Amino acid sequence: ETPAASPSSDSSKGVENLVIIGSGPAGYTAAIYAARANLKPVVFEGYQVGGVPGGQLMTTTEVENFPGFPEGITGPDLMDRMRKQAERWGAELHQEDVEFVNVKSSPFVIRSSDREVKCYSVIIATGATAKRLRLPREDEFWSRGISACAICDGASPLFKGQVLAVVGGGDTATEEAIYLTKYARHVHLLVRKDQLRASKAMQDRVLNNPNVTVHFNTEAMDIVSNDKGQMSGIQLKRTDTGEESVLEVKGLFYGIGHTPNSQLLQGQVDLDSAGYILVKEGSAKTSVDGVFAAGDVQDHEWRQAVTAAGSGCIAALSVERYLVAND
Ligand code: FAD
Repeated sequence: ETPAASPSSDSSKGVENLVIIGSGPAGYTAAIYAARANLKPVVFEGYQVGGVPGGQLMTTTEVENFPGFPEGITGPDLMDRMRKQAERWGAELHQEDVEFVNVKSSPFVIRSSDREVKCYSVIIATGATAKRLRLPREDEFWSRGISACAICDGASPLFKGQVLAVVGGGDTATEEAIYLTKYARHVHLLVRKDQLRASKAMQDRVLNNPNVTVHFNTEAMDIVSNDKGQMSGIQLKRTDTGEESVLEVKGLFYGIGHTPNSQLLQGQVDLDSAGYILVKEGSAKTSVDGVFAAGDVQDHEWRQAVTAAGSGCIAALSVERYLVAND
């Protein structure tokens, strides 16, 4: 319970110990740990997702798999609690997007439209954005029939026992389709091309599963609703013949990938070919000393609130060690 000895924050020169960029589970967890360690972190929460802090979970309803909430908790409620916990321990929160980062200078420089902060360490927790199809009625049915996460939503009463569709042809889409067969009556996999991009093993699993029908050369065009305004199907178009049809389903899962929010760091820390920040295995360390990354911006594999929070914790503890070692 005793806070760690504070590394020197050279406030006379206006240099902060730590700036955290992002306000999802990774950013707030890092802020809680860093604030409790007396590092007085400055957090740029951002407002890119829906104009509010809190990240991706602000766009969902029930979160049923975050430990500690046996009855579930809404995404916004969970994020509000994390935010309050960070604030309670003294994290300095700013609802501003970072627009410029220089981690090649010493100290580092972080700038939003409202302020410039110099700091000795940075945690990047800017998350990722699920790619969308941009269907005409997508916003209307987002979280009301359309989902970007089978693990999160597959067991929801909205989808359980229903006929569902997954769009995409890679590993994510095939994994989502297989996962959904646990709950759904049947799953249709909609693939735009004439073949799957997924690994051979995943292709075999999906093609041999009697509860999955794979539709090649098929594109989702829009959502179809019933007279109660609920999703009742998907308007489809064949990419080879142009033929249109309606597939009756109660849910549509996007398995078309995510875009990591790492544009700010391009050319400054090492990214992989998809734009994810590269961290040394099992750590939060990036290619630049003093710059750490946590959450979905460095994780193309697990992408869960609890894994993001866990990596935020690792990042904050790593910062503490780094500052002590460089004191
Ligand atoms: P994010 O939550 O993506 O937050 C990133 C933050 O960084 C945002 O606040 C953003 O505004 C900010 N940011 C970005 N750029 C900047 C910038 N330049 N300056 C300042 N701030 C910036 N996971 C579960 O475990 N259970 C679920 O039930 C679940 N349901 C989900 C439902 C939906 C609809 C979605 C989309 C995801 C769901 N997930 C769920 C996944 C989960 O939300 C993510 O894994 C998690 O939020 C990742 O956390 P993060 O902290 O890495 O980033």
